[in-house]
Amino acid sequence: MSSQKFHHKATTTEAECTCPIHRNRHRDPFTAPLGLSFANDIETRSIDTEEAELIYNAHHSYMDGDLHNANLDHHGIYYQNELMGAITYRYPMISRKRLHFNTDGELLPEPLSDSDYDSLPNDLEHRARDLIPQLTDRDIAEAKVVQGDRIVAADRICLGVRMANLASAGLAASQENFFTSESCPDPVKYLITFVRSDYEGSMVKALRGKGWRCVGWTEPSQASNREYKEIRDHYKWCFVCPIEEIIDQCAITDWL
Ligand SMILES: [Zn+2]
Repeated sequence: MSSQKFHHKATTTEAECTCPIHRNRHRDPFTAPLGLSFANDIETRSIDTEEAELIYNAHHSYMDGDLHNANLDHHGIYYQNELMGAITYRYPMISRKRLHFNTDGELLPEPLSDSDYDSLPNDLEHRARDLIPQLTDRDIAEAKVVQGDRIVAADRICLGVRMANLASAGLAASQENFFTSESCPDPVKYLITFVRSDYEGSMVKALRGKGWRCVGWTEPSQASNREYKEIRDHYKWCFVCPIEEIIDQCAITDWL
């Protein structure tokens, strides 16, 4: 038998799942061997809230329920016309964000001091220094406070199947689709997303290759007045992408 590795690996829970990805499925996802590019077979389409909720409830266990009413759109991620996952676009839970730029107008990370990096747990400190270069005052030409209605979060990137690179290729297809759709409000200039530091994998590489910058991180925070959420126990890298860079993007094959 060959020890070939495949893009998709079936898991036993999928067989019993009744979410929109798995119910009435006539065949398993195509199992392209790793190395064979599949990005051209990926597309995204709007799906309704109920469908998105069913997918998140089945496959996004660390953030059950509570779909926020600031949602702008939900996208299904399709591979060869089969639903594989979902992404939700919404206004982020921030009223404004300070962003920094160099003299060429390029987005920079937040200015961080040694003690900021040192405040991270040991394993993350090294990663942070690699992801987020330390700036000096001379690097920063401009700091802008961007109002919350100029920013949209690409949230809850969720897959119902285990398939290498699908999350990054799905996000690439989805963000282009979103920005050219009527669901994207005109004033929006930036996309933001938060990547769990222990889940980052290929997503960080993919984001960095497509105009996203890691600008900083968020610390774990459990709000005392809210229901406990496991996801809030984790550090998350904060990535921002200027909308112009998405418009300039070419084929999503660049992702793979
Ligand atoms: Zn499912």
